[in-house]
Amino acid sequence: MKKSDVLVIGSNMIDLMTYINRMPVAGETVEAEDFSMGFGGKGANQAVAAARLGSQVSFISMVGNDSFGKQQLGNFKAANIDVTGVGVGRKSSGAAPIFVDPTADNRILIVKGANSELTPAVLDEHLDLIRNTKLIVLQQEIPLETNYHAIDLAKQYGVPILLNPAPANSHLDMEHVRRVDFFSPNETELATLTGLPTTSMDEISRAAQRLVDMGVKNVLVTIGSRGVLWVSATTSQLIDAVKVEAVDTTGAGDSFIGSFAHYFAQGETIPQALRHANEYVAITVTRRGTQKSYPTAKEVVEMYQ
Ligand code: ATP
Repeated sequence: MKKSDVLVIGSNMIDLMTYINRMPVAGETVEAEDFSMGFGGKGANQAVAAARLGSQVSFISMVGNDSFGKQQLGNFKAANIDVTGVGVGRKSSGAAPIFVDPTADNRILIVKGANSELTPAVLDEHLDLIRNTKLIVLQQEIPLETNYHAIDLAKQYGVPILLNPAPANSHLDMEHVRRVDFFSPNETELATLTGLPTTSMDEISRAAQRLVDMGVKNVLVTIGSRGVLWVSATTSQLIDAVKVEAVDTTGAGDSFIGSFAHYFAQGETIPQALRHANEYVAITVTRRGTQKSYPTAKEVVEMYQ
């Protein structure tokens, strides 16, 4: 079996963007201004970012037995993602009805749907994919037990793991977290997990160090336009973000994780991969949308040559 560069195990969602003037009250029907659909879900976003950069990406995920599921599969194939690990569940596809009002405030509902059917047993059907990759990438829009099983399997096969603990979950079992090679929270997720304040850089540093003291090899804290703080047993350094005029930061976190995974799997050192990931996201945030804002390898070269 051919080895993949990056294996993403995670979610996919259809974003249902509805642009409203105001929310209806109970029992009321209100006309909305506009509507658009987009491909999302943290796992899918990260897989697409790595694939756009040219990585051989495999994806283990569950779509619903409906038209959204078929569209998701088409989208993964168009991005050149290997879909042998994508199953069709019994529930509806994961979907996120998002209501955006004229002040750009968002109200978001998450329907996990088939993503909740990505159980530990599904991973056992794809041991070849798990064994034959350079890096496994996990997030938290699928059952936590599935991530724990993925960590156990990855350790058994000696494959490095990156865990992006988003969305935050205070029930995360630290015994599993301490076994991952890369743990990449944003400041909010870091605070939820450690119970420590993460407002100032000093506080962020201390909270990240707490995780390193517990055994996590590399903590990569993403701090928006400030960049990313890398803390390990031997270093603590801020890799500055690239200064740009951001127009839409939706999906920035996933763009960072997917691109870091790509560059690391290509054999770059951690600081090199972090610098390149920052450059990748800087392009993403100057464009509107999530997956559609993720540049290809060619666009990245043109931007920074
Ligand atoms: P989200 O949940 O909104 O997708 P996040 O909170 O997980 O994002 P951020 O910390 O906002 O992730 O962003 C991830 C990385 O993207 C940052 O570490 C930084 O490198 C880059 N980045 C984010 N915002 C900007 C910006 N305005 N300008 C340049 N780079 C940015």
